[in-house]
Amino acid sequence: MNLFVPNIAYIDPKSLEYEVGRAAKENLIKLNVPIVQSRKVSIEGKTPTENYAKAKKTIYLTVSREKKLRPCSPSADYQFALSSSCPGHCEYCYLQTTQGEKPFMRVFVNIDEILKVIQEHIDINLPNITTFECGSITDPVALEHLTGNLKRCIEFFGESEKGRLRVITKFDNVDSFLDLNHNNHTKFRFSINTKYIIDKFEHNTSSFNERIEAARKIANAGYPIGFIIAPIMIYDNWKVDYKELLDRLKYQLGDYKREITFELIQHRFTATAKELILTRFPKTKLDLDEEARQLKWGPYGKFKYVYPKEKSNEIKGYIIGIIKENFNNALIEYFT
Ligand code: SF4
Repeated sequence: MNLFVPNIAYIDPKSLEYEVGRAAKENLIKLNVPIVQSRKVSIEGKTPTENYAKAKKTIYLTVSREKKLRPCSPSADYQFALSSSCPGHCEYCYLQTTQGEKPFMRVFVNIDEILKVIQEHIDINLPNITTFECGSITDPVALEHLTGNLKRCIEFFGESEKGRLRVITKFDNVDSFLDLNHNNHTKFRFSINTKYIIDKFEHNTSSFNERIEAARKIANAGYPIGFIIAPIMIYDNWKVDYKELLDRLKYQLGDYKREITFELIQHRFTATAKELILTRFPKTKLDLDEEARQLKWGPYGKFKYVYPKEKSNEIKGYIIGIIKENFNNALIEYFT
């Protein structure tokens, strides 16, 4: 897909003290993006919908001050961020409720300081291996063309004896990663879904075909790979569509003999998320009917609506079945 070009970029003056900040500014100038040098981002839409749309086209170059990384169960030991928010407009996005009414993208430029914090966390955990997730509050690939930060991280982890990186993305601009000395220390996972779900709910992200092609390129570059199938939804024809997804993956990755991991997450929503989704996407076709769901207590102190046990078991059995039919090198990491 075309690389993301923001409508406007705010630049924290502090970020120009860093090489990545200056380079990102140059990239934005080349892309003809209007620039405002300021410590504050100003988005003044007339409605929440307008604020959301404007924010998703606004970036803010700034400095990460995170010194103590948060744990990231079940996918890694810790999470860190190269940016926050992302240019995608996924209607169900789990970040809807955590990034406020104006989820503009913060893009962090102090990569050496971020890597230093990571190294400190690796050192504390020696002699064990420490794993890091970089896609918990953003899509780390979507903004890469502005900073080159993820490339730096992959090279850093490539040289790290005890640090491992896990990347998750819905974007396909992976070409800058193909020749890196990753040393098998970075694992790429692609978030995939049926064509119906991608086309209907995952606006401004790479298409089904683009993601599968990106996964093929990354697999050919020798990275460990995996897939997150999420959110898994029940709708007319869901079984046929998920089978098509796995068949296509098999066709594209037939030669990849190493382990391929799968993380499986069924669709869920909270009452707060539902309210926000209906404000931002009033015509959404997402199934948000509480009556058809069962309540489950979530780790973040909120009830969420998940499929009833019987349906959830059906999803689990079916999806795991078609994965195993297609890949004898599959490892199912979890279903939730
Ligand atoms: S790509 Fe990921 S982070 Fe971005 S809107 Fe979609 S679900 Fe949210």
